[in-house]
Amino acid sequence: MRGGKCRLYLVCLSTLFLFIVAGAAQGQSKPVAIVGGTLIDGTGRAPVADSVVVIRDGRFQAVGRRAEVSIPQDAEVVEAKGKSILPGLIDGHCHYRDWMGEIYLAYGVVTCPNISNNPVEWIIAQREGVKNGSVRGPRVWASANIIDGPPPEGTGTLRRQRTSIIVDSEDEARKAVRGLVEKGVDGIKLFERLKPPVAKAAADEAHKLGRPVFGHSLDIFTAAANGYQSVEHSWSVVYTSIQEPKKKHELDIGRMLRKVDTDEVHAHMEPAMFDKIIKVMIEKNVHWSPTWATWFRPLSTYAEEMKRRELALLRNPQLKYLPSYILKDTESFFAKYEKMPPEKRKPIVAGYKMLQEFVRKFAAAGGKIHTGSDPNHVVPGYAMHAELQMLVEAGLTPLQAIQTASINVAQAWGKETEYGSIEKGKVADLFIVNGDPTKNISDTQNVESVYMEGKKVNISYHADYKNPIPRPIEDRPEGG
Ligand SMILES: [Zn+2]
Repeated sequence: MRGGKCRLYLVCLSTLFLFIVAGAAQGQSKPVAIVGGTLIDGTGRAPVADSVVVIRDGRFQAVGRRAEVSIPQDAEVVEAKGKSILPGLIDGHCHYRDWMGEIYLAYGVVTCPNISNNPVEWIIAQREGVKNGSVRGPRVWASANIIDGPPPEGTGTLRRQRTSIIVDSEDEARKAVRGLVEKGVDGIKLFERLKPPVAKAAADEAHKLGRPVFGHSLDIFTAAANGYQSVEHSWSVVYTSIQEPKKKHELDIGRMLRKVDTDEVHAHMEPAMFDKIIKVMIEKNVHWSPTWATWFRPLSTYAEEMKRRELALLRNPQLKYLPSYILKDTESFFAKYEKMPPEKRKPIVAGYKMLQEFVRKFAAAGGKIHTGSDPNHVVPGYAMHAELQMLVEAGLTPLQAIQTASINVAQAWGKETEYGSIEKGKVADLFIVNGDPTKNISDTQNVESVYMEGKKVNISYHADYKNPIPRPIEDRPEGG
């Protein structure tokens, strides 16, 4: 981080922090009963038609068929006939920025587990601000700066490492993890340049301190041996599958130096290795966040629908406050694929097909996928719904797909006893949609209302939306 300016940010942040801690959180005790909707509880169990969900004091008090659940006399009754009730979504790969709050909530996403963010003080302040009601946005689970190893020879300083903590020994790795945990993070993000024993030390330290580990990896076998909870991105599988070390190295460096595009790398997947990779991931319970909407959705059978929805969203006058690059990026991203010459498109399509095959096989073997925004070329929050479509397109059932956006992520963060499904006793996060996502997965986007910790949240957009704790640095995602 940068010296003088940074100190100023910290003063600023801690003042805001005190301010928001002083803000009063509001309680609510009148129960709410959501009646008559089709319940998709996020456990993978069959949907329950004509259900009743009772919420009291922020928790699910009772959940089940209408005949089995009594509605408290003093309850506020919400009629949900013709609608579906889903668990509040949890983004498997969030990089939270200060303008994202409304969009996340509007898409039923009530938890943003950050897979890296910085400055650490800022993301912690966001987390506390949401907790006490002074920030209108999803709940934050925080990991902070990426812990990485020195850049590979011949690549110079990598732009993407500019906010990373670079370590080159086991001692340094443990110290970096302890430093972040002391600042209050909920998880640790490790990167692919760490030497295996250094990564192992970092993961071990994180686990000792009760923190989950999320990592980029060029070798999932090592990540699994090191006990990572989740491996991020589709290209982790790509590199792991390539058996010729020289080829793998050249592709890796080519991508680092931006000579090969991320989408092109996938053409080099080796499906012969899929079963072996899947086996170790299942054995060691390593989850996987493909983050493929951000790279591949123009190749989806839903591409036209996606483009139409995204452009309409981004042109909404109430969202004028969004950074201007998002609309431009989205337009040029779809245009790039539309204009792509067939000889360039063919290998990318082949890569997408292989990726679909891996997704299908991994899920069929019981592998836990995370739906995630990873907002590089996509609107956060919305991106999760695009991934749900892509997962169903790849062969998951809608019920399996919905788990990737809720309970699976909660499990990786060790928070599944509290979050991730609509079950008695858990924190009452849910959203109600018009229609039936088990018949048409696109219906998850027909969001009608959202409840977070039992309270109905405001899901409309406001041109004057302002986060009371602005992020003190440039907001482009850093590709982590
Ligand atoms: Zn990321």
